Amino acid sequence: MSELVNIAGTGEGCPVCDGAGPFTSDAAAIAHMGQHNARALAWAYLQEKAIVQRILVELDEPGGITAEDEIDELIKEVELVAGESSARRAAPY
Ligand SMILES: [Zn+2]
Repeated sequence: MSELVNIAGTGEGCPVCDGAGPFTSDAAAIAHMGQHNARALAWAYLQEKAIVQRILVELDEPGGITAEDEIDELIKEVELVAGESSARRAAPY
């Protein structure tokens, strides 16, 4: 069955909290994530988008990304900015 949770570890956990998953179906993931408030979901979406954008931009640079630890560094870079963002405090679980 075609499920987003089966794509590259998407179903491994909830982007908002640490206490959920892995999700075995898209419906189970949506049922869980739908219990979080809209601001928490918006924050999680914004952070995930920033990570994807940061990686995509780096891939487009000369030399791109050649090792997995470079991706980890990019994620840490985004997480650092996220931790310093004033909006983080406005997005409780
Ligand atoms: Zn959650």
